[in-house]
Amino acid sequence: MKTKIADLEFEPLLSAEAIEERIKAIGIQISNDYKHVVPVFIGVLNGSFLFIADLIKQIEIPCEITFTKLASYYGGTKSTLKIRDDIDFAMDIKGRDVVVIEDIVDTGNTAHYLLEKLRIKQPASIKLCSLLLKPKALLKKIDELKYVGFEIENEFVVGYGLDYKEMGRNLKDIYKRVK
Ligand code: 5GP
Repeated sequence: MKTKIADLEFEPLLSAEAIEERIKAIGIQISNDYKHVVPVFIGVLNGSFLFIADLIKQIEIPCEITFTKLASYYGGTKSTLKIRDDIDFAMDIKGRDVVVIEDIVDTGNTAHYLLEKLRIKQPASIKLCSLLLKPKALLKKIDELKYVGFEIENEFVVGYGLDYKEMGRNLKDIYKRVK
């Protein structure tokens, strides 16, 4: 069913059930990959708040969680290539195995910026886990991108934490823009 958010129209792309199933699989994979260490998850707010919460519940090994807040869209539908960095987390990640949790990798600029910042803190390893990836929009190769929920077309999406003009984050399913 179509839905309208502000001036734009959207239609369903990924159901809550499909998202849940995929997150369970990623949770199993990460729990297995990190079973010999205690990983630190860094959730990138705001868009990934539901993904972080749901993914973390599927992790069955001891782990730590912290958050950072970055934004590049400023409420619109196009990446601005400018990154606003609101929080620098206090946790010491030197020598730790870090998994960054993102909602979506679009141009890859945000991920690139954050990973560069994290590398300076000398973690033992860094991997990126993104619920969504737009392979056709990617401008930079991201070697750390190990876990991807869904690859999608180069289209604007909302729901399940992702917003348009700060709205639509509460939708259970993910919708794509049609108009
Ligand atoms: P990138 O820096 O990779 O171009 O963009 C990453 C950030 O832009 C994401 O973390 C997200 O906040 C925002 N973004 C990218 N694509 C979309 C989209 O289709 N919908 C929404 N709501 N945000 C997006």
